[in-house]
Amino acid sequence: MKVLVPVKRVVDYNVKVRVRSDQTGVDDANVKMSMNPFDEIAVEEAVRIKENGIASEVVTVSCGVAQSQETLRTAMAIGADRGVLVQTDTQLQPLAVAKLLKGLVDQEQPKLVILGKQAIDDDANQTGQMLAALLNWPQATFASKIDVEDGKVTVTREVDGGLETLSLALPAIITTDLRLNEPRYVTLPNIMKAKKKPLEVVTPEKLGVDITPRLKTLKVSEPPVRSAGIIVPDVMALVDKLKNEAKVI
Ligand code: AMP
Repeated sequence: MKVLVPVKRVVDYNVKVRVRSDQTGVDDANVKMSMNPFDEIAVEEAVRIKENGIASEVVTVSCGVAQSQETLRTAMAIGADRGVLVQTDTQLQPLAVAKLLKGLVDQEQPKLVILGKQAIDDDANQTGQMLAALLNWPQATFASKIDVEDGKVTVTREVDGGLETLSLALPAIITTDLRLNEPRYVTLPNIMKAKKKPLEVVTPEKLGVDITPRLKTLKVSEPPVRSAGIIVPDVMALVDKLKNEAKVI
C-alpha cells in the first residue's frame, strides 16, 4: 500500500511575520522557511504506518517554488521514500493545489493521502477537503488517531463534544490534527541519507492542470497596535478606571 503525503513550505512558525509595505501580502524574503507543522505530523504518521508493515512506500509531494525541494528532503529525512516536486513560481491557492494533487494521485495510485489540516500561512483548511471532493474519496479531517487494517481505516477525530470515531473504506483522505503524534527528531545521518533518495520534478502543465488563481487578495494589513497596559496602585483605582474610563462596569 502506497501513502502520499503533501507537504507545504511555509514561513517557520517561530518567525514573527511582517506585512509588506505595499500590503500585497506577508514578507517572506530572507525569513526562515520550514515544513508546515501539520505536514510534519502527516509525514511522521505515514512513516509509522510503513514501519508497522502496513504501507510499502511513502511518497511525499510539494507544489511550489524550486526551494520546496528542501521541504521534500526534510520529509525524506523523517522517513519518506521519495519525493515529487510540482514546480511553479505562481502563488498557488488551495483549489489549484488540490487539482495538482489529484493529477499525482491518478499517476501514483496511493491508497491513502495524509495532509495537514491547514497550512499555517494561509490558514485555509481547504486542500484535503477539495482533494477528497475531486477524487470522490471518503475523508476524515482533524485526525487524532489513525488505525489502518484490512482495506479500511479507523480515524478518531476531536470534536466539540468529545471524540468521534469514523471508519473509511480505502482509498481515503485524512488530514492531521496536532495531537496525532509527535514527529521524531531528524538526525544528521538521516538528513545525509535523504539527499540520496529520488526526487522527481514535474510541472503543472505536465499534469494538465490550470493553476491560474481564482481569488484576488485585495489587501493584507497588520492587526491594530495594542496600547500598553498600566499598573494600578490598588483595587479602588482599578474599579474607578473600569467604571469611569473603560466604562465596562
Ligand atoms: P490549506 O488548505 O492551504 O490550509 O492546506 C492544508 C494542507 O494541504 C497542508 O497542510 C498540506 O498538507 C497541503 N498543502 C497545501 N498547500 C500545499 C502545497 N503547495 N504543496 C503541498 N501540499 C500542500
